[in-house]
Amino acid sequence: MPDIDNDSIKREWDVKSPSSSNFIKEIVNEDLKTGKYHNRVHTRFPPEPNGYLHIGHAKSICLNFGIAAEYSGLCNLRFDDTNPSKEEVEYVDSIKEDVRWLGFDWDDRMYFASDYFEQLFQYAVQLIKDEKAYVCDLSAQEIRDYRGTLTEPGKESPYRNRSVDDNLDLFNRMRNGEFADGARTLRAKIDMASSNLNLRDPVLYRIQRSAHHRTGNEWCIYPMYDYAHPISDAIEGITHSICTLEFENHRPLYDWVLQALNLVDPPQQIEFARLNLTYTVMSKRKLRELVEEDYVNGWDDPRMPTISGLRRRGYTPAAIKDFCERIGVAKSNSIVDIAMLEHCLREDLNRHAPRVMVVLRPLRVVIDNYPEGQVEMLSAENNPEDASAGTREVPFSRVLYIEQEDFMENPPKKFFRLSPGREVRLKHAYIVKCERVEKDENGQVVELHCTYDPETKSGMSQAGRKVKGTLHWVSAEEALPLEVRVYNHLFNKENPEDEESGDYKANLNPYSLEKLTSCLAEPSLKGAKSGSTYQFLRQGYFTVDPDSTFENLVVNRSVPLKDTWAKVKK
Ligand code: ATP
Ligand code: MG
Repeated sequence: MPDIDNDSIKREWDVKSPSSSNFIKEIVNEDLKTGKYHNRVHTRFPPEPNGYLHIGHAKSICLNFGIAAEYSGLCNLRFDDTNPSKEEVEYVDSIKEDVRWLGFDWDDRMYFASDYFEQLFQYAVQLIKDEKAYVCDLSAQEIRDYRGTLTEPGKESPYRNRSVDDNLDLFNRMRNGEFADGARTLRAKIDMASSNLNLRDPVLYRIQRSAHHRTGNEWCIYPMYDYAHPISDAIEGITHSICTLEFENHRPLYDWVLQALNLVDPPQQIEFARLNLTYTVMSKRKLRELVEEDYVNGWDDPRMPTISGLRRRGYTPAAIKDFCERIGVAKSNSIVDIAMLEHCLREDLNRHAPRVMVVLRPLRVVIDNYPEGQVEMLSAENNPEDASAGTREVPFSRVLYIEQEDFMENPPKKFFRLSPGREVRLKHAYIVKCERVEKDENGQVVELHCTYDPETKSGMSQAGRKVKGTLHWVSAEEALPLEVRVYNHLFNKENPEDEESGDYKANLNPYSLEKLTSCLAEPSLKGAKSGSTYQFLRQGYFTVDPDSTFENLVVNRSVPLKDTWAKVKK
């Protein structure tokens, strides 16, 4: 049972049509009208390299690069690497790969906040000289205690009124490593009584001896995000600094920093709602936990909402961009139905994926009246949605396999598949009739005996010969064995992070991965390349996994055929 108020899940009624406007574009339009940034539009995508990118980041990437493209502007890739202890080169590399794979290009504008460490330091010196920053000796706990609450003003630090000279001396000695980690901070001198807690003399620099992935041990003081970000934006000439809603309360500080430093054409921060998806967690910390504690097989596990996971699962850049376009940009948080993401993938793959026949759970069928040893090549269309995709040949012979679930010994009336005495069409082949079944000692059906009607070959005219069901099948002799990995939601709650749902890990779906190891494919799949996607007739879309070899084909189910989201839409 869903444990979340359905109204808070974003379904079709708030879906935007492609290329729709949004409030951010309205701001840009207005700025272009007033000439605010001399008609420039310059955005950036600023990931912190502490994890792999996920579908939420894709929304931000599409938004930032998309707006730049739409207004003939520029978008930078900037690594926000101000927090040395959590960042790694592996993440930088994966982020670059993922942004590129989505189809976006930062040209030569790849930057690191750490490139600006010296400039950031000099700007801090300027703030000290202008009596807008001071070195504070309070401990982290004392700073919290002095800060006050939403209803009570804070208390000024006893170090707030140090002389400029003392501050300069102490700040330089902080940089030179004369003090222990956490012993002192540099703080902005703003207002301890401000109704916005972020303006109560926020910390700008902390002492932290940890090696940085780019600057090594050159620094033992590191700037805080709220200080580094606006300055990095200004240095790069960013006009519209788009971020997620949780930074709304930080905007006055963003503006304060730029103003205090008197920077020209200060960029403006604009907040939008982050993407949340049902049956998914999106926090990088939690995703990292799932990887590090082996709940999944790495960042690119096809169950992960990471871009690398989606790619391995068979998602295309087109499907992801279409999804980001449809969900639109809003100012209030909501949860998007994951079925909508799947819907976008299905729409894209339906146009492009070649069709093949694969039996996931085989049941042996012998066509008793088909000559032994004979193999016939039948012509099969590759994609009914795309005539230019052409045809291929599939072998037909006396022994075949069909899907176990396509046979029932005692079927209900509306079962239009195979059962004793009934007829079905085998796709691209003949009409067959089930004559009798063979069972093992436990009474399990292990083999069907059928007859075929040679007059019913697919494509030939056959007046009056209609059957209700059409089944996919493979010829036993030529069949190619393969492993199929079927994925279900990683979590079994719509909102696994919901307070009432408890620890999100308790909501992991134990059945999120099912490996089918006795599957059989038509021989045309031999040598299928990693990353290529097919529609397995009547089953869904499947993508060849990188674990695959020429001898051992492994495919991931990208998405089943049935579109639950389209149903919701009605
Ligand atoms: P964490 O989960 O560690 O808090 P983060 O979400 O802040 O990480 P960043 O690497 O700082 O991750 O994000 C880079 C950019 O992507 C930021 O501008 C951020 O606002 C945006 N972003 C992150 N998550 C989402 C999301 N779910 N939806 C939309 N944008 C997002
Ligand atoms: Mg962040």
